[in-house]
Amino acid sequence: MAMNCKEVRELLGKKDKADLGFYPTPFYKLNQLSKQLGVNLYIKREDFSGQSLFGGNKIRKLEYLIGEAQKSGANYVFTYGATQSNHAMQTVEVCRKVGIEPILYLVALVEPDEDDLKGNLLLDKIMGAEVHIIKPEEGETNDETYARMFQLAKEHIKRLESEGNICYDIPVGGASFVGTVGFIGGFVELQEQLDELGIQGDYLFHTTGTGGTMSGLVAGKKLTDSQMNIISIDASPHDEGYKEKCAKLGNSALQWLGVDPILEASDFHNDTSYYLPGYEMPSEGGTEAIKMMAKAEGLLLDPVYSGKGFAGLIDYVRSGKVPAGSNVIFLHTGGATALFAEREILGQLY
Ligand SMILES: *Cc1c(COP(=O)(O)O)cnc(C)c1O
Repeated sequence: MAMNCKEVRELLGKKDKADLGFYPTPFYKLNQLSKQLGVNLYIKREDFSGQSLFGGNKIRKLEYLIGEAQKSGANYVFTYGATQSNHAMQTVEVCRKVGIEPILYLVALVEPDEDDLKGNLLLDKIMGAEVHIIKPEEGETNDETYARMFQLAKEHIKRLESEGNICYDIPVGGASFVGTVGFIGGFVELQEQLDELGIQGDYLFHTTGTGGTMSGLVAGKKLTDSQMNIISIDASPHDEGYKEKCAKLGNSALQWLGVDPILEASDFHNDTSYYLPGYEMPSEGGTEAIKMMAKAEGLLLDPVYSGKGFAGLIDYVRSGKVPAGSNVIFLHTGGATALFAEREILGQLY
């Protein structure tokens, strides 16, 4: 039943996608940190995927999403997130490349200074995206703010469509089954790079948010019957229903490719021990991880996602959950633009 990488590639090849990134992304050993941590540490640079200096893991998903948008004849793409959303910024960059107009609806979890925009929001504006910022109202929960935002966007889409436009709607993080297919491809690409070097990947660490990346990676792993342990470090709170949701997402992606569903909630190993004090709030472990990577390897992580993911990796290695001498891969999902975001997101890095 298991497929090899070539067979998975053939399946993926049947779907229309836009060529938006530079693949394969670089994969190599981190020599200094391998010595410091006592494992063979490798890095996969998804942060190098984009055409602007600032790529990330969303580009892989967007190749399939934009492929679908183009097929539908869309002249507008809508997407959503926080004001410092990496996904929103990457969506803008790929929309510009293919000539589709990007419209963003963003929740101001951290209030931006309109006269001094930072990080991804600055890039969104430089690339000329239409940006609608939704400020949380007194007494409103996060979910309520997001719900209000989606409602406003829905009305906006309706208005545009009544004028004869075609809008393609991309969910937060690009986490639909279409986007998830991108990381089935991502897993296969990594496996091919490992095969080429003759290395067995024991552990793969990455940061998880909306779950599309995790769902695709785990679907790819199961499809190819790989023994790699995929450890997904949460950047935000997730309850038990998360694994269930991700199994569904991965299965829908497989079904879209014409493969029977094979994922169950128990196939996922996400760990919520490292995101506190909260999403877009710096943590001690994340801060240490960013400094360690920067000083040992001259390589930049971010405080919201990759820093916390790497903090998880360090802790698993130091506590012996990952045995010394293992081959450990860190999937760098991007996000370093957050180093130039608002101070309260950044934390104390120097
Ligand atoms: C979006 C994002 C993630 C999480 O990916 P999901 O597919 O949403 O789970 C991780 N790291 C960075 C830098 C991101 O921007």
